[in-house]
Formats: sequence, structure tokens, C-alpha cells
Amino acid sequence: MPTVRQQIISLLREQELNPMEISQALHIMEKEVYGHLEHIERSLDRQNLRLAVSPFACLSCGYIFTKRTRRDRPGRCPVCRQGHIRMAGYRIVPA
Ligand SMILES: [Zn+2]
Repeated sequence: MPTVRQQIISLLREQELNPMEISQALHIMEKEVYGHLEHIERSLDRQNLRLAVSPFACLSCGYIFTKRTRRDRPGRCPVCRQGHIRMAGYRIVPA
């Protein structure tokens, strides 16, 4: 039986997913996903893989949250103040 982290790794090697999609696929809480992603990102170095991130984006004005280091979703766009935010997506790719 693979661990949750192993399951997340195999999902993200096949497709890009956001934390909500990962939580639904594995039946875990979305906030648990963030902790697993931190650990996975550190462990990938040894395997010549990396965690590629598609940053959060504002669906109202197109602003991209390129400088955001926190993984949880931002409440509002700093430019237009709207709350329609596309979630960050994650994928595991060769380093
Ligand atoms: Zn915006």
C-alpha cells in the first residue's frame, strides 16, 4: 500500500493538479496537501526531479502571483481586489 506522499508523487508525474484536486483524489484535507508538498519538494532533489508550479492567477484581471511563496490560496488580488483566484497547479518534472 503506497503512502499518501507516494500517491501524490505518482499523480503529479502524470498530470498537473492543484491542491484541491489532490485532496479529492486521495480523500484527504486540502490543508494536509500543503505539508505533503513541502516534504515532497525536498525529497525530489535526490531523484533528479523537481516540483514545477503554475502560480496563482487572478481570473478577473490576469495578475499572476509570481512572487508568492506561501502555498495556501490568496484571499484577494492585490491589483484589482477581486477574489476570483485560479489555484496554483503542481506537477513533477525532470530537474
Ligand atoms: Zn486581479
